[in-house]
Amino acid sequence: MSVRPYNFSAGPAAMPLEVLQQAAAEMTDWNGSGMGVMEMSHRGKEFISIYEQAEADLRELLAVPAHFKILFMQGGGLAENAIVPLNLSRGESVDVVVTGSWSDKSYKEASKYCTPHLAATGADTHFTTLPAPTQWQLSANAQYVHVCTNETIHGVEFHSLPDLKALGSDAPLVIDFSSHVLSRSVDWSKVGVAFGGAQKNIGPAGVTLVVVREDLLGHALKVCPSAFNYKTVADNGSMYNTPPTYSIYMAGLTFQWLKRQGGVAAMEQRNIAKAQLLYDFLDSSSFYSNKVAHDCRSRMNVPFFLADESRNDAFLAGAKAAGLLQLKGHKSVGGMRASIYNAMPIEGVQALVSYLQAFEKTQA
Ligand SMILES: *Cc1c(COP(=O)(O)O)cnc(C)c1O
Repeated sequence: MSVRPYNFSAGPAAMPLEVLQQAAAEMTDWNGSGMGVMEMSHRGKEFISIYEQAEADLRELLAVPAHFKILFMQGGGLAENAIVPLNLSRGESVDVVVTGSWSDKSYKEASKYCTPHLAATGADTHFTTLPAPTQWQLSANAQYVHVCTNETIHGVEFHSLPDLKALGSDAPLVIDFSSHVLSRSVDWSKVGVAFGGAQKNIGPAGVTLVVVREDLLGHALKVCPSAFNYKTVADNGSMYNTPPTYSIYMAGLTFQWLKRQGGVAAMEQRNIAKAQLLYDFLDSSSFYSNKVAHDCRSRMNVPFFLADESRNDAFLAGAKAAGLLQLKGHKSVGGMRASIYNAMPIEGVQALVSYLQAFEKTQA
């Protein structure tokens, strides 16, 4: 195929073509080693060099301070919903802000290990708004406060992190940044732990990034599996057990690609431009709509609806024929969803807007 279609999948999602091509070129022989990356010992010098480069690049890209550990774990975002309380809750109470499907899952999972308290919820607006931090009911004794900073399904995003201290809480902030990691900078002064699966904005599924402040290590519950104990993983340089080596390698190639693009600040500017192009069009049209409040619209995941939902199948078939893939919305929200992560160029969003216009005309 000469022109590769634009892929709007929410995850696993499109990756930069250059990254895929480099991986293909290195598939059977990495750097003259005579081995593909999948075939290497995780303790050999070849893989260690891949690992160390990936970690250093991620630290540089996200400006992660020295007093935070970067862990490459397994289990995805959902396993972290258990791993976080296993490591931080001490079996006591924690605050959870529910802003959509993912934080709702975090709230429910935490109850297996501790006592989650619903500090705020956006349920009353069907998760089309974010509850203002000044209205959160934070508890005095919470071991942490959990927030999902980009709700992949509902398309709501925090455009700044809450300052828990200013809100009267001493608890560390835990953020699930699975679906917007590396799309924007992170203010680490406000964060205790950040976690995210790789398959939205970084690389293949299988590796989960955890960035944890050092003072939060070493408080895990006795029942915490050793392979999921942040301190054990940190002490062993993410090699307590075999890490997902190929996924780490692919993530590392994406980090290198991001650096060539100008880093996170440059990506953030592009992501702002891409999102604005799409939202401005949706808002200008009476045939399409996005229901999320303007101040918390996600730059990454854009759910939208056709005025005539009986046209959904025709819309998706036409999109596919036009080289625009995986635009079907999540079943819990319905409609359509365009995920426009780092790997989506502005040309892809322009092509989507052109198709939206053309499809609307055929409905007149
Ligand atoms: C996709 C996603 C998850 C779940 O990730 P898994 O790897 O499937 O466990 C969790 N949180 C957010 C915000 C996500 O987008």
